[in-house]
Amino acid sequence: MSTEIYSVKGMHCASCAAIIQKKLSKVEGIKEVNVNLATETAQLEFDNGNLKLEVLNQIINNYGYSLEIEEPPSAASLSVADSVAKRAEKERELHAQLKKVQFALPVALLVFFLMMWDIGSMFSGIIPHLPLSMELLNIFFMLLSTWMVFRTGAPFLHGIVMFIRSGAASMDTLIGIGTLSAYLYSAVITLIPSAKAFLHAPDSTYFDVTIVVIGFVLLGKYLEARSKMKTGEAIEKLIGLQAKSALVLRMGKELEIPVQQVKKGDVVIIKPGAKIPVDGTINEGYSTIDESMVSGESLPVDKKIGDPVVGGTINKQGSFTFTASHVGADTILARIIRMVEDAQGSKAPIQNIADKIAGVFVPVVLVLAAATFVIWLTVGSSLLGFSVALSYGIMGMVGILVIACPCALGLATPTAIIVGIGKGAEYGILIRNAESLEKLSSVDTVIFDKTGTITTGNPQVSDIISLEKERSTTSLLQLAATIENRSEHPLAQAIVEAAKKQQLTLGEITDFRALEGIGVSARIGNTTVTVRKPLESEKTMAVKKLQEEGKTVVLIEEDGTCRGLIALSDTVKKEAREAVAALHRKGLKVIMLTGDNLLAANFMARQVGIDEVMAEVLPQEKAEKIKELQRVGRKVVMAGDGINDAPALAQADVGIAMATGTDVAIESAGITLLKGDINKVAQAITLSRATMRVIRQNLFWAFIYNIIGIPLAAGALFPLWGIFLNPVFSGLAMAGSSVSVVSNSLRLKGKKL
Ligand code: AMP
Repeated sequence: MSTEIYSVKGMHCASCAAIIQKKLSKVEGIKEVNVNLATETAQLEFDNGNLKLEVLNQIINNYGYSLEIEEPPSAASLSVADSVAKRAEKERELHAQLKKVQFALPVALLVFFLMMWDIGSMFSGIIPHLPLSMELLNIFFMLLSTWMVFRTGAPFLHGIVMFIRSGAASMDTLIGIGTLSAYLYSAVITLIPSAKAFLHAPDSTYFDVTIVVIGFVLLGKYLEARSKMKTGEAIEKLIGLQAKSALVLRMGKELEIPVQQVKKGDVVIIKPGAKIPVDGTINEGYSTIDESMVSGESLPVDKKIGDPVVGGTINKQGSFTFTASHVGADTILARIIRMVEDAQGSKAPIQNIADKIAGVFVPVVLVLAAATFVIWLTVGSSLLGFSVALSYGIMGMVGILVIACPCALGLATPTAIIVGIGKGAEYGILIRNAESLEKLSSVDTVIFDKTGTITTGNPQVSDIISLEKERSTTSLLQLAATIENRSEHPLAQAIVEAAKKQQLTLGEITDFRALEGIGVSARIGNTTVTVRKPLESEKTMAVKKLQEEGKTVVLIEEDGTCRGLIALSDTVKKEAREAVAALHRKGLKVIMLTGDNLLAANFMARQVGIDEVMAEVLPQEKAEKIKELQRVGRKVVMAGDGINDAPALAQADVGIAMATGTDVAIESAGITLLKGDINKVAQAITLSRATMRVIRQNLFWAFIYNIIGIPLAAGALFPLWGIFLNPVFSGLAMAGSSVSVVSNSLRLKGKKL
């Protein structure tokens, strides 16, 4: 299976997305299609093999759309020029829309004002009649309307052409049919008196309606496009973090080169206040670096020789040189950008209903509009007479076509997802896809891995107890460290560290074996040495006492005989207590999951206020424990280090990996927290709940708007109270609906996490 992302041209509304989705899904070899209106992209998953862009384009060109190769590397290759060009193109499109609005809106407002005056004078009796000849006004409106329908509103006519040619209808088709039919009817009764007499048509025409509707709809589209651009600002900000150039040392000379030309292995010079261009390791000098932009960590971090530096961060006072280790698409920043871009283009499950409706929306509305017209002409004219019913029929039909808005439905979810995921990225919360964000909002249980998540993960040797008089604690430590030297486990590293501090030499070993979740063993000469956790039966008073103090105890054995023990203590992270309290305030249950012993785990749990402890769980059992909780109906989020906890993270409803900054794209996790700050777990939940609230509001308003608007425009209130919604107001409502949805999504930007 391969996945490819294309950018889509010519897409205006949710129906367009639905049409493209439908057509591409039918192509052989394509397994999954995800067309996203908000990002204007199509994500295609297909069987390995070549998917020809021309073939895809042949299919959708008929409907007025085209696919272009999206260079995901836009950001990934850190080509600044690329992203600038993309933004400039969007701005040009927006400017073209603005120019149209600048003409259409004043015209529409003038006509709207004259219409309101005319209606006011008819009903109030106080307002005098328009001091203009109605015939002249009608001709004036006809001229303006001709321009509006055929020039300014040309995209809507294009929608009709597309409909006739291919049977696929979009929002533009609806507006096009609505305004064109009002225009043609008015033109016929104005220019052909015999036709007017034949139809028994009333005097009123609808040129004004076409002008105002087109003006308002264009305004709505412009405002929507402008807001939509704002939803993508988080990515722009991330892209903006890239340095444009770098100062490198080549052949003994300092050379300023564009960042794209920096190669792996280059020595890069960083002066005070400079931006770090790519990732690497310091080889000379020291400094403090502001890493807040990629980690969400607000305090500057001290860096010395051997420490890693991240492209996009800013050097403070010091100066240093570093060797580039990752450039271009491989840098952390590029990977973050790519991950955020992909996530913003992904689909939240909640969108499925809206998508299904958008798929049939336009044809259904067309049928409703036609039915309204027919009902007015038949039922209406038998009650009110043909002439009155005809004008209501036309108004009703136009009103429905104009008010029905699939756009709001289509934008409700993706705009909120884009803003939500972008906001997360600013806080160092990287969300892999919309589904994870959605699921996170409904979790009720948070499971923390102990080591490295609740605790700092840097245990220190605190006690060494020898069980034999003749063996010193130093030689016991030396023995343990010799074996542990080969292990990656934090406990092993602590033991080795302690031995190194005492400058003990570590001997040769053979047959090293790591017993996962238990300990390690190896041979020194002919003796088998084991360092492992004590069995239940081996927990003497001394062992228990140490464990009750929160310490982890390991036994050191030679050929099965216990020679002594080492206790290690880890400290809880200073922010852990507050993080747990924040989760409690949200009504979540907090559980600690650890391979360590129950007594030590309980001690740590009490310190931070955790509700429940699952201790002595072997690594391979962690996922099973989560399954058990899920079986009793709990929705679980698991936070762990992402490498050792991968199966558990994958099993949880949402897996949160606490990255240390170098491993941003952790496969098994739905969410990655940069800098491993556990307060961010609660922040991520706040964000997901806020995003889902906005989505629900958006969907609610988009549905309600259409459910109420369509019957209202059709004249449903007329039989009751004689009220009929002028299509002009339908146009206004239509313009407002998608703008309000996008604006509501933008509110998320201001949300405090
Ligand atoms: P873990 O699941 O990795 O946290 O390991 C569970 C327990 O096994 C630890 O608390 C230790 O008691 C023991 N253990 C695991 N690996 C080692 C090791 N390399 N050295 C000593 N003890 C270990």
